[in-house]
Order: sequence, then C-alpha cells, then structure tokens
Amino acid sequence: MDLSGKVAVVTGGSRGIGKAVCLRLASLGATVIINYVSRSDAADAVAKEVEGAGGKAGVYRFNVADSAAVTEAFKSILADHGRIDILVNNAGITRDGLFMKMKESDWDDVLNVNLKGAYNCIKAVNRPMMKQRSGSIISITSVIGFAGNAGQANYSAAKAGLIGLTRSLAKELASRNITVNGVAPGYIDTDMTRDLPDAVKDIILNEIPMKTMGSPEDIAGAVAFLASDDARYITGQFIHVNGGMYMG
Ligand code: NAP
Repeated sequence: MDLSGKVAVVTGGSRGIGKAVCLRLASLGATVIINYVSRSDAADAVAKEVEGAGGKAGVYRFNVADSAAVTEAFKSILADHGRIDILVNNAGITRDGLFMKMKESDWDDVLNVNLKGAYNCIKAVNRPMMKQRSGSIISITSVIGFAGNAGQANYSAAKAGLIGLTRSLAKELASRNITVNGVAPGYIDTDMTRDLPDAVKDIILNEIPMKTMGSPEDIAGAVAFLASDDARYITGQFIHVNGGMYMG
C-alpha cells in the first residue's frame, strides 16, 4: 500500500489507537496531521516519532466537539498542507455508568465528542473532498455500537450513531469518489481500557474467542487498508477487529 502524497487528519492522534494510526499512515507515505485536545506532550512525541522515521507530520490542537474550533483548525490545515485526502474520526471518550444513574452531562459529553465531533470534522472536509473528487473518511466506531453494553448507553448510542452516519454518507458521497467506512474495534489495550478492574477484564477476555485484547496496531492495519487504493470500491462498510467477540 502506498499513501505517498496524501494528507491524513487523525483526530485524537496523540495516544492509543490514533497514535498507531498516525504511525502506520506515515510509514506508508502519508503526511499525518495529529490532533489532540489536552496533552500536547503526547502529540509532539508522535510527530517526533513520525519525523524520526523520515515521515511528515503536523500537530493541531482542537476540541472535535467545538464546531467553531474545528472549522478554524481545518482552514489552517488546508492552508498549510493544500489538501486533505484521508479523515480518521478517532477521538473518543467514555463516561460509563448504568443508565438509571447516568448524568445528563455524561450523556452530552460522550455524544458531543464521539458523534458530533465526527459530524464537525466531516463537515469541514466535505467540500474540499468533493472539489478534489476523491477522499476517504474512516470512523472508529466500536463493537459496543453494534452489540450494546450495560453501563455504556451513552457510548453505545454515539457509536451506533456513527454507524448510521457512515452508511448514509457513503450513499451521498459515492458519486464524488469519496468512500466512507468504519472500523469497529473490540477490546484494545489503550489508556481507555487500561484502568478497568481486573475482574471486568477477566469477564471481557472470557467473551473473546482469541482470549486476548487487541493492540492499537491491529486497528491501524484496518484503517490503512480502508485509506488505500486497494479499498477504492469499498464504501459504507465496517471492518470488525475484535478477536471474534462479535461477528457482524
Ligand atoms: P485513548 O487512548 O483514551 O485516546 C483518546 C484520544 O482522543 C487521545 O489522543 C485524546 O487526546 C483524544 N481526544 C479525546 N477527546 C478529544 C476531543 N474532544 N477532541 C480531540 N481529541 C480528543 O482512546 P483509544 O482507546 O485509543 O480510543 C480511540 C478510539 O477508538 C475512540 O473513538 C474509542 O471510542 C474507540 N474504541 C476504543 C476501544 C478500546 O478498547 N480502546 C474499543 C472500541 C473503540 P488527549 O491526549 O489530548 O486527551
């Protein structure tokens, strides 16, 4: 796979899955735009790693949930890099809890970052990609968006929303040569899952036929494929990367 000459924006590219995606896309020749919201040290370290390996990177801080900030940031990215070929909607948060006790702010925060964030970023690349008559939009959803999970109604709703958004946009944008797909990770070893109590981890591992968590690199491989010309005729689809725990 060769992504030379392409510019990829990865939201939440500073840690976990996003970081692995940045490193993989850069290793295939893409210029990667690493977005973060709070930890500039982590984002700068990813850029250094990309550049150390001979790749090209840029770091942009913006909150994906803030539509004005996203509009401004994408204007700057386009001014600085001339085009955007690949958008990876990866930034995400959890605020878990049983629905009965779930605060409205926990619902709003998760929907605003995980779903509205993708809306904001897709809005910002929609017109430039249509003008280019090419583009690849890949959203990181979750096994939870397909299967549901007690204690994650907000997260599951946001990720299921991403699935519907992806399918609808795939239909709207296909004639402009823009593909819209998703990757649905199962349980992946990142900061998001690291603090789960051991008892919960054991229950999760029991549900995974491969009996192990995935790595961020497992997700990066699927994203790279969907961003590549090898996937040019694939749109509105989801790659499940979950060790067999859910077969969609
Ligand atoms: P993570 O390790 O917690 O990293 C989250 C990343 O998102 C960080 O780079 C963070 O930036 C960024 N971020 C958070 N809120 C943001 C915002 N409002 N605006 C911009 N960036 C923001 O998470 P992860 O496990 O890699 O998860 C990445 C994606 O995969 C998420 O969408 C998650 O829902 C999904 N996913 C993960 C798993 C899993 O098992 N880990 C499973 C299924 C799906 P800062 O460092 O600046 O905070």
